[in-house]
Amino acid sequence: MFDARPVLLSTEFPRLRRRRIATLQVNLGYRCNLSCVHCHVNAGPHRTEMMPTAVVDEVIAAIDRLDIETLDLTGGAPELHPGFRRLVRAGRRRGIEVIDRCNLTVLFEEGQETLAAFLAREEVTVIASLPCYLEENVEQQRGKGVYGDSIRALKLLNDLGYGQDAARRLHLVFNPVGAVLPPPQAELEAAYKRELKARFGIVFDQLFVLTNMPINRFGAVLRAHGELDAYMALLRDNHSAENVPGVMCRDTVSVDWQGNLYDCDFNQMLGLPATVEGRPARLADLVRGGPLEKACIATASHCFGCTAGQGSSCTGALGEQTASAPVHESSARTLNKRSRYSKFAAKS
Ligand code: SF4
Ligand code: SF4
Repeated sequence: MFDARPVLLSTEFPRLRRRRIATLQVNLGYRCNLSCVHCHVNAGPHRTEMMPTAVVDEVIAAIDRLDIETLDLTGGAPELHPGFRRLVRAGRRRGIEVIDRCNLTVLFEEGQETLAAFLAREEVTVIASLPCYLEENVEQQRGKGVYGDSIRALKLLNDLGYGQDAARRLHLVFNPVGAVLPPPQAELEAAYKRELKARFGIVFDQLFVLTNMPINRFGAVLRAHGELDAYMALLRDNHSAENVPGVMCRDTVSVDWQGNLYDCDFNQMLGLPATVEGRPARLADLVRGGPLEKACIATASHCFGCTAGQGSSCTGALGEQTASAPVHESSARTLNKRSRYSKFAAKS
């Protein structure tokens, strides 16, 4: 497996501290029915890492100790985990928003025939990857046949009320094809809405525009093409200090399939644990007002992927989310203040 850590660990990135934990992001395992080129998880059909039932139990116990607003379920394809529906119900019964990070095609996997209706019934927010509204770009990233199945899945979700009902939110996720920063979120959202409506009658709520992280499969592709250093420079040169207060790790904790805690999904993939009193944090450390809140966050060079250009997080660009709350310690200095995008995604 490609190890990006030597490239990423030296950093000038500002130091950060966590605020109150509002979102628990749970990675149920690395099994997925797809093997996308940009995948920062290296997920695929042959991965066997899946969260044991005892850890699912611990996650539910942690939810009861915390005061979270959002339970964010991810993977791999989280729906393929046998405990997925139990976790969804646990969150919804406690009045928490539950997010399913869905690749859409999983709705047509064997054994998932009731999945779409289940998500609608439980009023789960679906955040679905659709890297472009054009077939060629989607299949370049995600594989042959994925575009058609994705469109079919979006129509099915629309038929169940998704995208047109405040209780059934449907958001799409865009990330660029290649080593470029994404285009402005608002403009691309307008184009997605126009094109998907005109071509297929599909509606959705918001488009989240994400920057590709130079780790795992995407990092390996960059390295193979000799583009890794240039991509790191692109992220660093487009750092905007205004994005720093809103980076998602300040109010999110990421849990891996074994119950270890990380400041975000990317740190999870890099093996950079969240720490409490100098040791790696575990689910038992998740307590409202506990030491993880206000703890220092493990940052490295990949963090510029969250602050470059318009910023990037699991819920898209940071512009509107950037709070005025101060960042820990001083170093929210600008490396290249307000420099803008070097290139936009060529084919979007
Ligand atoms: S990007 Fe998502 S859908 Fe694609 S392989 Fe990774 S986890 Fe699966
Ligand atoms: S990569 Fe993770 S730790 Fe770094 S700024 Fe982004 S969310 Fe925070």
